[in-house]
Amino acid sequence: MWAGRVGCRRGSAGQGDPTDTAERQEGPAPAMEGRQCYDLLVIGGGSGGLACAKEAAQLGKKVAVLDYVEPSPRGTRWGLGGTCVNVGCIPKKLMHQAALLGVMIRDAPHYGWGVAQAPHDWATMADAVQNHVKSLNWGHRVQLQDRKVKYFNVKASFVNTHTLCGVSKGGEETLLSAEHIVIATGGRPRYPTHIEGALEYGITSDDLFWLKESPGKTLVVGASYVALECAGLLTGLGLDTTLMIRSVPLRAFDQQMASLVIEHMAGHGTRVLQGCAPERVEKLPGRQLRVTWVDLASDRKDAGTFDTVLWAIGRVPETASLNLEKAGVRMNPVTGKILVDAQEATSIPHIYAIGDVAEGRPELTPTAIMAGRLLAQRLSGQTTDLMDYNNVPTTVFTPLEYGCVGLSEEAAVARHGEEHVEVYHAFYKPLEFTVPQRDASQCYIKMVCLREPPQLVLGLHFLGPNAGEVTQGFALGIKCGASYQQVMRTVGIHPTCAEEVAKLRISKRSGLDPTVTGC
Ligand code: FAD
Ligand code: NDP
Repeated sequence: MWAGRVGCRRGSAGQGDPTDTAERQEGPAPAMEGRQCYDLLVIGGGSGGLACAKEAAQLGKKVAVLDYVEPSPRGTRWGLGGTCVNVGCIPKKLMHQAALLGVMIRDAPHYGWGVAQAPHDWATMADAVQNHVKSLNWGHRVQLQDRKVKYFNVKASFVNTHTLCGVSKGGEETLLSAEHIVIATGGRPRYPTHIEGALEYGITSDDLFWLKESPGKTLVVGASYVALECAGLLTGLGLDTTLMIRSVPLRAFDQQMASLVIEHMAGHGTRVLQGCAPERVEKLPGRQLRVTWVDLASDRKDAGTFDTVLWAIGRVPETASLNLEKAGVRMNPVTGKILVDAQEATSIPHIYAIGDVAEGRPELTPTAIMAGRLLAQRLSGQTTDLMDYNNVPTTVFTPLEYGCVGLSEEAAVARHGEEHVEVYHAFYKPLEFTVPQRDASQCYIKMVCLREPPQLVLGLHFLGPNAGEVTQGFALGIKCGASYQQVMRTVGIHPTCAEEVAKLRISKRSGLDPTVTGC
């Protein structure tokens, strides 16, 4: 909790507090006189940082946010709001929607609309998406101003445990001190270091959504959220897209669901190369790139030409420029993420880390936001509630969306033993797929439960249209400890895909055909 605005006194020469080990070891920082003083400094104006700063300011604290976007290696840059707003959830979901519209245009004549399939224009879509993102950048600035949060467009690094140095684009330095500091610097896409031409010729999700022109024929390397979503939306926009997976797709997810996601993508236009790893990217005369890869099982080499190579092989936490050693903040040497406890506190009790940069946290916007808000409320003495990272719902926005909450079938079996787990499942056909005769082979739901009555629901997995909307509602039930029997007594909303969850009668153990027939 706050004990008054003491940060400035602590930060001054020779007056380090007892926890101020780094300051004591390294001595006082130079020229501390011009410092500005706050109750709370937040490094990073993304999902977590902005939520924390706004909440603390609303609770009467003097708060500043320091945010700085290092351009991508390709020179792409953006404004305030962090990954989600600029190069993540928002542009991704809008481009996913653009791709879904293509499917609907194909369905439309079956429903009587006299529309012809028209080629998609990337530039128009990109312009609209980018304009929306810019409006969100502006909205965030206005919100900070309205809540009297001071915004510094500077790159922050620690001077000591209570003081930060912010450096502007022009090189101007500002010293800022506070009683509490929150690190919410997120992460950036990883480039492979061992592949010749990867950095020189490849792009990442930091660039894709800001391209003015179509990426053309694209190779997407990776097998998790970003790779699958990007490959899915590019395919949906009519681009020749190859997805290169080195091992298994969606490793952290239920593997039956992951296989169905890939099966659907492969059946709807994405070329999937599984068990392959890229080795080299070369520039050919003109725009094209030649990529050489190896099939890991046979060791056979192959090659192809692409207009764009998109690396989607994970993210690196943004800690390198923070000078964490000056504050004594400890990191996991393997992941590079900041070690935190249940209070989100780092190894230095008044320095916190939230969101993607914190060790062991889901890399999702809503968890970063909720963690930030709760932290501000705890610091203000409004609550003692901790962020609950269990049963966090999520959706992978692939062409057929996959939403889930709770345990995968594998995790449930590993935790409780196969004899104690009952899985109810169904292959269903969304009503709207019937008239245009859309393929529904992969529309599938499974609910993972304990076998003993009342059969607590451990996990729900939904593959189908609007999976995010469906999963969000059921997430509440699972958070409240819903049982299978309670879900079965929930009246469905007819005709929807979500009602199929409340109709899951066939258990895997029964061996009966789980295909839903009739109404
Ligand atoms: P960020 O939002 O990354 O914000 C960190 C900010 O700190 C950035 O602005 C950064 O420039 C700044 N910064 C870094 N270092 C410094 C420094 N030294 N000084 C000052 N500023 C600094 N999540 C979902 O929930 N749903 C989705 O659909 C979804 N889609 C995604 C799609 C893609 C392509 C990607 C990449 C991510 C997606 N995510 C999604 C994840 C989500 O975007 C992140 O989990 C979320 O943005 C993390 O928030 P954060 O506050 O931890 O960090
Ligand atoms: P992840 O860390 O989830 O996955 C990295 C993927 O890249 C894995 O499939 C991994 O394969 C593969 N990979 C790693 N190194 C290589 C390599 N050298 N060559 C080939 N493949 C490689 O990363 P993402 O960037 O996809 O996602 C980051 C996070 O962002 C997610 O965890 C998620 O929380 C968040 N996000 C959320 C979204 C949503 O909510 N819809 C959407 C997008 C992102 P392997 O398994 O073999 O190691």
